[in-house]
Amino acid sequence: MLGLMQSGQLTVDTFLDHAATWQPGREVVSRDAAGHVTRSDYAGIRNLAKQVSAALARAGIKQGDRVATMGWNSHRHLAAWYGATNMGAVLHTLNPRLFLEQIAYIANHAGDRILLADPSCADVVAQLLPQAPGIERVIFLCDAASMPQTDYAATAFDDWIAGEPAEYAWGGFDENLACGLCYTSGTTGNPKGVLYSHRSNYLHTMLTLQADALALSARDTVLLVVPMYHANAWGVVYSAPAVGAKLVLPGPRMDGESICDLIEAEGVTYSAAVPTVWQGLLQYLRSSGRKMDTLQRVTIGGSAVPEMLVRAFRDEYGVEVTQGWGMTETSPLATLSTPSAEVAAMDDDAQVAHKIKQGRLMCGLRFKLTDDAGKPLPHDGETFGHLKIKGPTIVAEYFGGEGGEILDSDGYFDTGDVATIDQRGYMQITDRAKDVVKSGGEWISSIEIENIAVGHPAVAVAAVIGVAHPKWDERPILLCQLKPGETATGDDLLGFLEGKIAKWWMPDDILFVDEVPLGATGKIDKKLIRQRLTDYALPTA
Ligand code: ADP
Repeated sequence: MLGLMQSGQLTVDTFLDHAATWQPGREVVSRDAAGHVTRSDYAGIRNLAKQVSAALARAGIKQGDRVATMGWNSHRHLAAWYGATNMGAVLHTLNPRLFLEQIAYIANHAGDRILLADPSCADVVAQLLPQAPGIERVIFLCDAASMPQTDYAATAFDDWIAGEPAEYAWGGFDENLACGLCYTSGTTGNPKGVLYSHRSNYLHTMLTLQADALALSARDTVLLVVPMYHANAWGVVYSAPAVGAKLVLPGPRMDGESICDLIEAEGVTYSAAVPTVWQGLLQYLRSSGRKMDTLQRVTIGGSAVPEMLVRAFRDEYGVEVTQGWGMTETSPLATLSTPSAEVAAMDDDAQVAHKIKQGRLMCGLRFKLTDDAGKPLPHDGETFGHLKIKGPTIVAEYFGGEGGEILDSDGYFDTGDVATIDQRGYMQITDRAKDVVKSGGEWISSIEIENIAVGHPAVAVAAVIGVAHPKWDERPILLCQLKPGETATGDDLLGFLEGKIAKWWMPDDILFVDEVPLGATGKIDKKLIRQRLTDYALPTA
């Protein structure tokens, strides 16, 4: 027997429509590269987005066509996002920080027809266009006065939509239609496209709004630091309007001072970003002596969160840190490190120990931990294995069938991460499978050593990689980037690690570098480190 309830389609136009109808005056604040602030609201963004839908339709864009954006978090980018998805087109967010060859590969593979780009990306676009002939039209996300000089045809966003009506009818299609396209950054092989559906994004939004997940509310002012091109912006482009939270879009400036200024000026209560952004903010706060009176909670994910960061934000600034884990293929959020009742009753050290695990699954998702042969492993918090995941917000196959069949016979997707799961359901990443250091048949977690090393007061960024060793297969070495003006020796660092990790985990060498390279989403770029160290030899003593 079927239920007798209405069957509205779960499409993402719902979120902006809801915000614009019931919280029309709730602010959307956007700061551009020059520091200029534009104040709008959800009613204003809906009008802009409707005009975008009309302009796209006029340009011949139909359901399923790919519309690309390349830009920082801004109100025009937000309007472009909803303008494309809500008319049934597929929004494809390109990451301007990737290498040109990767961007060209991705734009061609996606079949992008229209490109809406930030004016600061004009040079990248100039190099991209000859290599991506499918792009029919370039719109710059700015007004006529801010248009960059180009020797290719381009239109200012404000001019492009100026004559369009703000009345385009949204939604009304199947919730299983494609909605967004996002490529993994391709640390191995070519980038692969993850094609979200309206339904998967809708469900992800509902999941991430839970009190034990992002817990956003109408009273929050949300600073969206995580870029809109990074893994679906962790869904916050949907979840903030869904609850009518004030939304602050910071543009390209992510340094500590710029972030702190916005938090103060706009009364930000909640934010989300990768650890490197928060480390930069912490360094700035400590050196400037500034405080953040309004900020209450931050979600940190994308890379492991060092214990030092959790304690410093809580103890020095009264900000609660929650770690999130996920990947482009998981929409992206899947686990959060919020305390269970049992953990909340523990002493402080035990609570922090759970905060620095990647956390517990959101309802509706399932985990499997297996050995190399696919045999299930126990959830005892010690045995580590391949982490596999299943659920309605998890990828089923890559765009264009790349990589072939990617689910196992039970429908689980292999995350490429190696992890433990404890008796309380807390998952902890040991490493990415390709970054784990295999020494003498045992595995050493590069993440764990890095997290301890950044707790040393002189260290800004730490990276551990495995280097070939004739007897042990691989041995770990530690690269350190010191904070400006700080000094430390290799022996200082080894002394600091001693007793905190097993003896056989101790790095065989410590290299001080001017800069540990970060990839296009702010994570340590181990592929590049390995390339730079091809001629490196371990000390023989
Ligand atoms: P990529 O880095 O390849 O562009 P993603 O941004 O989707 O792709 O990154 C997903 C990966 O990032 C995960 O598989 C995991 O290795 C890592 N990751 C994400 N969040 C965390 C976290 N909280 N702790 C440790 N690793 C994380």
